Amino acid sequence: MNYDEMMKKVSGKEILSRRDALKMMALSPVAASVLASAGAPAALDASASNAKGRVVIVGGGAGALMVLARLRRALSRPDITIIAPNEKHIYQPGQIFVAAGEYAPEDIIFDNTGYIGDDTTWIKDEVSSFDPDKNKLTTKAGKVVEYDYLVVATGAQYHYEHIQGLTVDMIGKNGISSVYLNDLAAGTAEGGTITRNWFLELKEAAKTSTPRVLCTQPSTPLKCGGVPQKILYLSDDFLRLDELTASFTFATAGEKLFSIPEIDEAIQKVQQGYGNITNKFGHDLIAIDPEKKVATFLHKYEEQGKYDEEFKEYEMIDKEEHVMIEYDFIHISPPTTAVDAVVNSPLAWQKGTAKGWLEVDRITLQHRRYKNVYGIGDVCGIPIAKTGGSARHQAPVVVQNLIAVMEGKVPKGEYDGYTVCPLKTSYGEIIMAEFNYDGLAPSFSLDPAKPRWIWWAFDLYLLKPMYRYLMLNGLM
Ligand SMILES: Cc1cc2nc3c(=O)[nH]c(=O)nc-3n(C[C@H](O)[C@H](O)[C@H](O)COP(=O)(O)OP(=O)(O)OC[C@H]3O[C@@H](n4cnc5c(N)ncnc54)[C@H](O)[C@@H]3O)c2cc1C
Repeated sequence: MNYDEMMKKVSGKEILSRRDALKMMALSPVAASVLASAGAPAALDASASNAKGRVVIVGGGAGALMVLARLRRALSRPDITIIAPNEKHIYQPGQIFVAAGEYAPEDIIFDNTGYIGDDTTWIKDEVSSFDPDKNKLTTKAGKVVEYDYLVVATGAQYHYEHIQGLTVDMIGKNGISSVYLNDLAAGTAEGGTITRNWFLELKEAAKTSTPRVLCTQPSTPLKCGGVPQKILYLSDDFLRLDELTASFTFATAGEKLFSIPEIDEAIQKVQQGYGNITNKFGHDLIAIDPEKKVATFLHKYEEQGKYDEEFKEYEMIDKEEHVMIEYDFIHISPPTTAVDAVVNSPLAWQKGTAKGWLEVDRITLQHRRYKNVYGIGDVCGIPIAKTGGSARHQAPVVVQNLIAVMEGKVPKGEYDGYTVCPLKTSYGEIIMAEFNYDGLAPSFSLDPAKPRWIWWAFDLYLLKPMYRYLMLNGLM
């Protein structure tokens, strides 16, 4: 089905014609520059600082490249080393559009080399251990690198192996999918293609039966925590476009659909519109039997106990049980931690809910104990969603504060916790959930809880070129 046919099928919706979409694409540099000035903190002036010192950036993803570009511009004599294994850069948000059939797999893979200039030393390796007390680190190949200032941008690490019975090579077989799957070091992103095939197999099955579809969300933080629901709604709508259906279960370790009440309420309405989705809250996937197609969850819940005369309320007792759910198709979102080198280092939070993630101050992004260390992106142990949108707003703060420290000044840049989840509620519509530490933070004066075609068009046609040409070059 081509674009226009698909859009025509979405009856009764305000939709974008191909002509309008193309117009928007042509306008994208203009729109991008307008958007660049909306909401994102400004870049530092070119070569504004004569600060000196050896800066090492660890990682080669969104956060690392944004900081690198801004630092190269802001320092008159940059002395920067980047330690990153990947010559290819994955536009990870695009994995969803590959699954949806809107992008080809190659559309989301860029060359990393263009972002790392000749004035930067590039060590194509991974860090195996950090020694922040001695201002040095060691790479997997055994190279010891000393620094004066360190920026940690190593992202997050999947743990499919934490689900008993599951190995990565099972994903893509027997009705199992995971759009998240990628190997950033190798520059590959199979999750999109595997989930595309999963959509197609699901549609074939729905022609002769009512398949049972299970979408899961773990108890750990996730890259873009809206992804499990994006797959839920897109796969449901993918069937609906051909007047087919299935029975969908969303099993999440969480207790609600979205952390922001206004968005949570809007999603409940979206689900009512589908009419074939059952939510299982407090359900954490712990095991899978791929042959029998049974998933086992640890279900945590509270049970009402005795009435407490003293406090005039019922005692609530924590309970847990194992719940088994049969499925025909399962989409798994993996348990996630920081990468091993961070988890096992003194740089990580040593206790608390962020244990294992980088211990940075949530406003300044400076390490709370090692003041010459900064963090950006998914690795940060701060109470906000892990998205590229967060990294975009963190980059100018990290650079401003790092340069302040290099100049012997007090870091004054503040990150307000901005993040964004473009929640695809159907083909052609997105709820653009922008929020920060204080709650909703929309960039535009539109009701943020409403699914809109304009956000679909923006995400599908504008965001990728903006990411590739502006954000990664530190221009927005
Ligand atoms: C399916 C999917 C959909 C998403 N959708 C959205 C969305 O719609 N909107 C949005 O804003 N965000 C979205 N995200 C999240 C977004 O991609 C990430 O938040 C963003 O890439 C984080 O940037 P980062 O630099 O922290 O980590 P990454 O971009 O993941 O980069 C980490 C880098 O560190 C390197 N690395 C890892 N370990 C080491 C080591 N030991 N030594 C050296 N280098 C190392 C890796 O090779 C990689 O280059 C999505 C992600 C996925 C997977």
